[in-house]
Amino acid sequence: MNTLTFAETTTVFLLSPWKPILICAVFFAWGWVVSTHLEKDASDAHLNVVKWNSIHLGAAFLALAIMLFGVNFYVALPVGFVVLLAPILAYWKVRNSAVSAQHQFKLRTGSFKAAREKRKTAKTNKQVTMKFEGPNGPMKVPDKDDPNIGVYLAVEELISDALKHRASRTDIRLTQSGCQSKYLVDGVSNNQEPIVADLGAKVVAFIKEIAGTDPKDVRRLQTGEFDISSASGTTHVDLTASGSSSAYVLRLDFDRAERVLRTWESIGLMPKQRELLDQLKQPELRHGVVLFGGQSQSGLTTTSYSILSQHDSYLNNIVTLEKQVLATLEGITHNTADDDNYATQLQTVIRRDPEVILAADLTDAEAAKIVSKPGKEGPLIFVSMRATSMSDLLSKWAGLVSNPRQSFEGLQAVVYQKLVRKLCENCRVSYKPSPDLAKQGLPIDTVEQLYRKGGTIEHKNKTNPCPICEGLGYIGQIGVFETLFLDNETRKYLIAGDLKGALTNARRSKRLIRLQDAGWKIVAEGQTSLEEFGRVSKKKDSKKTKKSATKS
Ligand SMILES: [Zn+2]
Repeated sequence: MNTLTFAETTTVFLLSPWKPILICAVFFAWGWVVSTHLEKDASDAHLNVVKWNSIHLGAAFLALAIMLFGVNFYVALPVGFVVLLAPILAYWKVRNSAVSAQHQFKLRTGSFKAAREKRKTAKTNKQVTMKFEGPNGPMKVPDKDDPNIGVYLAVEELISDALKHRASRTDIRLTQSGCQSKYLVDGVSNNQEPIVADLGAKVVAFIKEIAGTDPKDVRRLQTGEFDISSASGTTHVDLTASGSSSAYVLRLDFDRAERVLRTWESIGLMPKQRELLDQLKQPELRHGVVLFGGQSQSGLTTTSYSILSQHDSYLNNIVTLEKQVLATLEGITHNTADDDNYATQLQTVIRRDPEVILAADLTDAEAAKIVSKPGKEGPLIFVSMRATSMSDLLSKWAGLVSNPRQSFEGLQAVVYQKLVRKLCENCRVSYKPSPDLAKQGLPIDTVEQLYRKGGTIEHKNKTNPCPICEGLGYIGQIGVFETLFLDNETRKYLIAGDLKGALTNARRSKRLIRLQDAGWKIVAEGQTSLEEFGRVSKKKDSKKTKKSATKS
């Protein structure tokens, strides 16, 4: 039986006319998928189209041979089918992992496109495409002729517009003159269509109701949460509502816990910086204070959580005190601080003798005195504070502790960070750095090429917005870190109040990595553009940081 000749096979084949029909059906479906979807997709994602086409074609020949010459047709047909399917699954995997690994985001472009189409038709039919579920259960969808359907659809429109652009949050501001919402994508805010005051008030009340907060209470700060489900998946929303005499503001954070958690290697620290921070894991060095600083929305929480998870939470007792717990880390005790009792709560945490502590969003002098007191004898304490530069962070810290010796004796390291947007690797454009850049002090001879944002790709002689970043040219964010590791000499300068001397000394002994050096490194790697780093460096940073501000 194993040595059937082609002629014999053909005879068998001709005897059952439905066998070729089956084979044709399989190949027809396969051909349709490959030609209408995969080829265009591979080209859009800048994958090697020729290579993938040859792989699919090779698989097709093999599958056909198996189906035609297989001894048992009922076995050969499914085996051939699997052979056809394997490269398609492989392509799917390669494509998705390439994209998500580089960009650290959920690939939603395809599903969003479909969802958008669905929404278009749904909108004309007043059809609902989103379901909301809060602590009080799923929200009832109003009937088509119920006047509330308008409010429901307005909420849907506002949220889906933000989600479709990968927003991390939306702020809805209601005043007497109207309702203005804006969403934040990679730290950049975008205004949405304004809504008239009357509908705006209903929209705000409706969202508060979904989240289980009292819509009538417009005085107190309220928090709530709910889930959204639609064709493009589910999204968790954390709601914060606050009011003042002139405006009422709702803040919706999308998948906040998921966004805040990043691996130690991916947050943007240079290997050298990680290595020095990692040394603090050794029990004999695990003492004193590490200061973390940055402006609001600069990734401080992500960095704090990331460094905490570097410490073994099974062998060590790790405790946090935070004004808002954004995610919970396994094995770590998170405590939410009351605004008025931060210092008292911190005292309690320290008394319990943990090995590692995170004192997040520290703002008051009493708390600063408490954390700096144990010094090198005490636990390792990560302190995060708002600051506009490394020197601002150091002087704020010294000011709060108001005892130079106590401020700096136990201080191990200072980390100041900013967030830059990452270039979309699918559409970024390379260029040769011009000699002018060297005049600005950039070491351009160390790189072959730099990248700037693209936003479009060429497909069959047509210019289209890049499907990965939706034409923005940037996707995701990464930290740029300025780090100072203190030795005794640097401490002496700091205690004497000579900040400049301290930084010069630390730089000479390679214990200071400046923001512009860290920034240049990720520019040179093509992770971000000079323009983006320039934009972020300039931002609100001119106060008292002549020395550390970057002009790249
Ligand atoms: Zn792109």
